[in-house]
Amino acid sequence: MEKESLFRAIPAVHELVSSLRQKFPSSPERLLVLVAREVTNLVREEILSGRRKSLSAGEVLRQAEEELEKRLSPSLRPVINATGVVVHTNLGRSLLPEEAVEAIEAVAVRYSNLEFDLRTGKRGSRYSHVEGILCELTGAESALVVNNNAAAVLLTLNTLALGREVIVSRGELVEIGGSFRIPDVMARSGAILREVGATNRTHLRDYEAAINENTALLMKVHKSNFAIVGFTKEVSGAELVELGKKYGLPVVEDLGSGCFVDFSRFGLIKEPTVQEVLASGVSVVTFSGDKLLGGPQAGLILGQKDLVDQIKKNPMNRAVRIDKLTLAALEAVLRLYRDEEEALKKIPTLHLITMPPEEIRKKARALKRRLRGVPDLSVSIRETVSRVGGGALPLASPKSYAVTLTSPRFSAAELERKLRAGDPPVIARIEEEKLLLDMRTVLPDEIPLVEKAIKKIFGEGSCQD
Ligand SMILES: *Cc1c(COP(=O)(O)O)cnc(C)c1O
Repeated sequence: MEKESLFRAIPAVHELVSSLRQKFPSSPERLLVLVAREVTNLVREEILSGRRKSLSAGEVLRQAEEELEKRLSPSLRPVINATGVVVHTNLGRSLLPEEAVEAIEAVAVRYSNLEFDLRTGKRGSRYSHVEGILCELTGAESALVVNNNAAAVLLTLNTLALGREVIVSRGELVEIGGSFRIPDVMARSGAILREVGATNRTHLRDYEAAINENTALLMKVHKSNFAIVGFTKEVSGAELVELGKKYGLPVVEDLGSGCFVDFSRFGLIKEPTVQEVLASGVSVVTFSGDKLLGGPQAGLILGQKDLVDQIKKNPMNRAVRIDKLTLAALEAVLRLYRDEEEALKKIPTLHLITMPPEEIRKKARALKRRLRGVPDLSVSIRETVSRVGGGALPLASPKSYAVTLTSPRFSAAELERKLRAGDPPVIARIEEEKLLLDMRTVLPDEIPLVEKAIKKIFGEGSCQD
């Protein structure tokens, strides 16, 4: 078609609006007009640029309906995580236990003693609700919680090292993803990065040689999402503590995914727990609430009272403060840690990381059974490895089981895309041209939904054929 006739085929905005209104009678007029204008503008641009070579009024209407539907449905919504990555940063990291959800609801719909001391009737502190239990669980003298761990690191450095030097090993200058890079955060905090050692090897003497009158602190950063192997040397937190004592310098450790539970008894790599790091004498530790801890997004700052008190008083603290819903969820999760076995059962992140392979296999079998007889689909179960994710235990690869799907009708990439487009979307991964559903992260009550999503693809496909 000629561009001229294509332009003429674009329906008028008022026509498009009245067609839309038939299908969406209760939608506000303003939104219908907005969508009709946007879609016709878009079509016009496509014609101009030559990307659109044919056009019918029906097509434009369908496009407008799709756009309107997208706008009317919530943008943030649940998905089914079949990737096997437990702390999946892009899929919302940790799932909250029921206890946390109840705690959120309780303070969300009613007034609370968020900053009110019920004993004195005077103003209280929001931090008081979790400080006691954090100290009890970890042995810390003092504790503070903020919006996330990035904020915890920023606030800690800004308080303790503004305009002064912080010594960090070159092997620990990690980028977490997105824009969180230790050197950049350090610069924004106003601290001066003093890198020491080489990428693979840093010695205690490297730290010592860098100390001068402008040194504020020694810092250790968890490597989180990578490992250095081969000819390596790393200085432990305990050694840094010794050095710090000699020169009167505090040691700050950004643990990233701090955890309270020793996962090595489940066959995973030994990571020092928050309790152990504090017991080794590290002055301040920071870590995330929603990585291995399995709580809501938060940044936890624990350690020596005089230092944490200074951090609390930093005016920047107000800008990164934790909100009441997060606080409610965090307190509920922390309470579960009083009994480690209970924590392992009830906190989904811990439960999923430590799930025995046999239990995962049962879920895989259940899904496979439900998919029996779907035409053009072959389903099998294979052993695979999951990931902890979230920059936690980067080398851990716990054994898992996946349901694999192959079909002569659809490529693995097509299946992946179709499942992702479903409602709820199912997020899977592709390995060797097969679609893999790692059942570790698929919750038992989601199995029927995955079944439905797959059957819909194969049912729908046959209608279109
Ligand atoms: C994840 C991580 C952060 C950032 O934590 P958020 O809670 O995502 O803000 C900072 N430092 C390290 C070492 C990390 O692993």
